[in-house]
Amino acid sequence: MTHEAGIPLGISFRLLSDTPQDAAARVVNDVVVGDYRDLATLRAFAKGCDVITFDHEHVPTEHLRALEADGIPVRPGPGALVHAQDKGVMRARLTSLGVACPRHRIVTDPADVVRFADEIGGFPVVLKTVRGGYDGKGVWLVRSEEDAGDAFRAGVPVLGEERVAFRRELAANVVRSPHGQAVAYPVVESRQVDGVCDTVIAPAPGLAPELSAQAQETALRIAGELGVVGHLAVELFETEDGRVLVNELAMRPHNSGHWTQDGAVTSQFANHLRAVLDLPLGDPRPRAPWTVMANVLGGAYPEMYPAYLHCMARDPGLKIHMYGKDVRPGRKVGHVTTFGDDLDEVTDRARHAADYLRGLIDE
Ligand code: ADP
Repeated sequence: MTHEAGIPLGISFRLLSDTPQDAAARVVNDVVVGDYRDLATLRAFAKGCDVITFDHEHVPTEHLRALEADGIPVRPGPGALVHAQDKGVMRARLTSLGVACPRHRIVTDPADVVRFADEIGGFPVVLKTVRGGYDGKGVWLVRSEEDAGDAFRAGVPVLGEERVAFRRELAANVVRSPHGQAVAYPVVESRQVDGVCDTVIAPAPGLAPELSAQAQETALRIAGELGVVGHLAVELFETEDGRVLVNELAMRPHNSGHWTQDGAVTSQFANHLRAVLDLPLGDPRPRAPWTVMANVLGGAYPEMYPAYLHCMARDPGLKIHMYGKDVRPGRKVGHVTTFGDDLDEVTDRARHAADYLRGLIDE
């Protein structure tokens, strides 16, 4: 999707991909297959690139520092990106900036989890491996010392957090360029099912204007303080008592911003590229009162083509984005987007298509 946004900007990509079958490797024509954890591979790949950016956060921080030392512009740079790679570093930094977060501390073993629970008023608590988690993997809701064992098995440091009583999850998406220009998209509601993003509604329905402004200001401030270049997604909890707390950060185009492809004047992908290349940023405003994005998860159909036909014929206004990935149950294989004036109607259309493509409904 980043490549697609680069075409009208005349940008050519070189892609470092784990396998030739990767969804991006099917569309980019200059593909290097290799391991992003190997510095020699990264160095060979970087030769001839004007700038390096990412569609995931897992390239080791020290390798990115080495590339920077070689004179390769890395955007976002490792000093910013580490806050999206390591939840412990992120919590410590945001707390020092006075950004509201769930109560937290690093916990060392299950007995320490019990002490942490006592400090914050008791179980349940949330445990997270500080690195390597995604889509709810690496996150545990823990109710006792016995429950806590799993989080320590990977041998990665573990962060304990209070279990936040939230009304819903929000995301504030902003984009910042190297010389400091920044834009903010409307704050969205992000609905999760089993730790995986299911539906995103832009803007978040019924969000108090002062909370929306506060969330955008917080995201812009984080982008500035951390020196983020490119797209920053700040995942938030709206608490039952009307506060906004930061959950985590992503420094790349993010699922909570996919709606912008069809629903905003400038998509997150185009603005990420503009920022990475230090070009003037594009207008982030929505094109319709409501935009709804629903993820398509792999389900009943190993071959999706007949299912698209039904969805296209049923709803000509539906935007379908499939990633060309092999379909596996529960895997994100695409998304659909709808927009319009009536939130219920727009939501029903997006949900219908996503559920149909997954095989949950048959008409
Ligand atoms: P991931 O890296 O997998 O995206 P997150 O930190 O976003 O991990 O956690 C995944 C989900 O777990 C969140 O979207 C949220 O629903 C839930 N969660 C995470 N932290 C907390 C918390 N402190 N309190 C309550 N729920 C949480």
